[in-house]
Amino acid sequence: HAKATGRGRAEHYSETLANEIAGRLRLEGELREAIDRKQFDLVYQPQVAIRGGETVAAEALLRWHHPDGVRLPESFIRRAEETGLIVEIGDWVIGKVAATIARWGELGIEQRLAINISPRQLDRANFFHRLRAAMQEANAPARLLELEITESLAMHCSDTVIEAIALLRADGATVAIDDFGTSYSSLAKLRALPVDRIKLDQSLIAAIATDEAARNITQAVIGLIHGLGCEAVGEGIETQAQADVLRVIGCDVIQGYAVALPMDEAAFIAWSRGNTADDARRA
Ligand code: C2E
Ligand code: MG
Ligand code: MG
Ligand code: MG
Repeated sequence: HAKATGRGRAEHYSETLANEIAGRLRLEGELREAIDRKQFDLVYQPQVAIRGGETVAAEALLRWHHPDGVRLPESFIRRAEETGLIVEIGDWVIGKVAATIARWGELGIEQRLAINISPRQLDRANFFHRLRAAMQEANAPARLLELEITESLAMHCSDTVIEAIALLRADGATVAIDDFGTSYSSLAKLRALPVDRIKLDQSLIAAIATDEAARNITQAVIGLIHGLGCEAVGEGIETQAQADVLRVIGCDVIQGYAVALPMDEAAFIAWSRGNTADDARRA
């Protein structure tokens, strides 16, 4: 009897494993198709100065128009990284953002756009060279480009990558550390990194309006960020109460549903044209 149960479990186990492998292979195939069939798109989420209320940048966020419906990055980015397909997808993002910066410039909209960079992209020796070339080819000024690199990735940057980042910044581009507060940062490494802005992860600031310790910690972290000569950006701001606390404790810029949702290009252009300091303060 025990044996039968064991065999049953083993069969069940290998069945789930087989399903999982099949699912992963299917996703990989679909991702390849998505690249060929140009099913990716970007949406743009404003980042707003907490005092003046002006839009200081927008983060470009990837969307996949799968035949079954729109898919969010959480459902496919990990697989794209595992398979290396993120490199091709990332190239598409870079080309799209460079073209968008240039096109908006012609419309009179000078908007800094931030892109998320995956570790696999930085692994490639010529990444920064290709990035600069893509910007120049599109006639997009480097000062309107921001790179977002996660805290964990930033802590593992090689000296070569740090030098390349410094070159890009010399062109005028800016660099932000993303999801700060979710990994372990070395203060020495932080000080050595040539970055402009540090984005406080939502998990760090979610409780600031209701929990005094969370607020104190966030305030101390903002002090650290300013001590490094960087701007502090609050991510995932969902309530006016969170925005109010962040203003009081010295955060510089906020991004989140309470400010504005990620928007398609047409909506973002309308936002840019209509967004006065007063509008943003009310939002
Ligand atoms: P992230 O870079 O930390 O981006 C912020 C995420 O928070 C976005 O999710 C955004 O839609 C979401 N968000 C914004 N405001 C709020 C809010 O008030 N509350 C909550 N709960 N969420 C908010 P999204 O677009 O689903 O992207 C998820 C992650 O996928 C990003 O996190 C980033 O790590 C990755 N990602 C997105 N686009 C790209 C891309 O083009 N390339 C790469 N390599 N990764 C990307
Ligand atoms: Mg980001
Ligand atoms: Mg983030
Ligand atoms: Mg995040």
